[in-house]
Amino acid sequence: MNWLNESTRTLAVIGLHFGDEGKGKFVDKLTTDWADIVARGTGGANAGHTICIGDEKHVFHLIPSGILHPGKLNVIGNGVAVDPRVVVEELDILKSKNLATDHLRIAYNAHLVLPSHLVIDRLRESGSGKVGSTLRGVGPTYVDHYRRIGLQVRDLRNKDALWKKLKLNLEEHACFMRSFDREVIRDIMEHEHLLEGAYFRPNDLNVVFDSDAIVEQYLAYGRLLAQHIEDTDALMYQAVKSGQRILLEGAQGTLLSERYGTYPYVTASDCTTTGLAQGVGLSVRDVDQTLGIAKAFYMSRVGGGPFPTEMGGEKSERWCAKEGVTRDVELREYPSVSISKTNPIDSTTTEDFFMGVAIRRHGNEYGATTGRPRRVGWFDLPLLRHAAHVVGRDIALTMLDVLDACPEIKICTGYIYAGPDQWVGNRQLTDGHVISCAVPMADILEHCEPLYKVFPGWMSDITGIRSRKDLPRELLNIVSFIESEARVTTRVLSVGPDREQTIFDE
Ligand code: GDP
Repeated sequence: MNWLNESTRTLAVIGLHFGDEGKGKFVDKLTTDWADIVARGTGGANAGHTICIGDEKHVFHLIPSGILHPGKLNVIGNGVAVDPRVVVEELDILKSKNLATDHLRIAYNAHLVLPSHLVIDRLRESGSGKVGSTLRGVGPTYVDHYRRIGLQVRDLRNKDALWKKLKLNLEEHACFMRSFDREVIRDIMEHEHLLEGAYFRPNDLNVVFDSDAIVEQYLAYGRLLAQHIEDTDALMYQAVKSGQRILLEGAQGTLLSERYGTYPYVTASDCTTTGLAQGVGLSVRDVDQTLGIAKAFYMSRVGGGPFPTEMGGEKSERWCAKEGVTRDVELREYPSVSISKTNPIDSTTTEDFFMGVAIRRHGNEYGATTGRPRRVGWFDLPLLRHAAHVVGRDIALTMLDVLDACPEIKICTGYIYAGPDQWVGNRQLTDGHVISCAVPMADILEHCEPLYKVFPGWMSDITGIRSRKDLPRELLNIVSFIESEARVTTRVLSVGPDREQTIFDE
């Protein structure tokens, strides 16, 4: 791994797009070969990674990806929104397979996802403020943190404090709850994530939540998690001081960061290096190196929000958002759309929407738990320029094999602005303005029309190639173009999902 500096002690793996870039493979490899500690610092159960235990695959949401390595501490940092139900469930899966769990540490000062957060998330997503939340209560948990009415993991161990803080929290939310039909709330509270109605108070018209039931359940979680709860800020500080190798595992991606992403279609935490370092109790100055992960030469996005290069534009967005559409439904609806060596797909003759369906199918771009289709678009340099500026210039390109049978590949090199006059800082965007580095706000991006440069594809199977010099010339041309245009260096190229299908800097 020549790209990894010998002096690096803290390394962050960060998504440069909208998540699902393939970070898991790098985290896994680095955990096995390099790290002493793996730490998460942002997001909550809205993230997901697949952990294979024997022949079985499990999608874990909160426990870090390094959990299968008993000798290495796995830390859920203070910046993570912790749903204790989910952690307990994930620990149970591991224990049922006789796997060690005592190397998991949970920050005592991380914020707790409460039943009220899960309900608020679902109520908000049912209205006009919909932003494509994963309904795990993460956004409302962060909101309560900033409103200074949040509860922390340590409260799971202190009955009186839990009571007092929960009462205040529920009082603050009572007014909002009362503005909804009680039957709507009852329906939501029947959800399995809310223990099928266990927290609902049926006989009191003014109060929705049964606080006794919540306290009892959360104290029970506290007992189950007690051995894992710790001052992880101190632990991380000591780890840095003693020169341990720390791997910071990013969740989601830069373009979903609440600070640097396509606001307001963003997640509720800062998933860049800054947020991640802070979320494990470190300073961004403690991070020696960052590896930004980007898909190539396409991108994907889940949920709403602007996506200038989306293949099939609004038609694709509508299709992917349509109730009930999953991988199987898509296959039934469009059975003949696919890419393969014998059936290459040509963007000059294929309608954009179908190009998107074909790439989605070939790249398996469907939600790991829901099977829902991800929106697919061409590689977007203006967005990469922005993300690399925020995160850093060492990158890995993944999914290169997905476009093996595309006769031509389009790279978005810039946008033409085609919207109302708008001020951005001290410059005014007017109709026809050319943009080379994305301004990642939704109400600007939605008026950006992509400019493309078209490259010939390589039309050969690259999944068995293990050396950069053996990659097709056409592919390397596109990589060089991206490197010089976005001023990035590709340290790693990924040519398949397997750990071995990875080409490191030579
Ligand atoms: P994350 O959300 O960024 O952690 O993404 P994951 O690590 O869950 O990766 C998403 C999917 O892409 C997983 O099923 C991976 O096995 C797969 N994957 C990763 N790298 C590659 C690659 O280079 N080619 C292909 N075809 N699949 C890949």
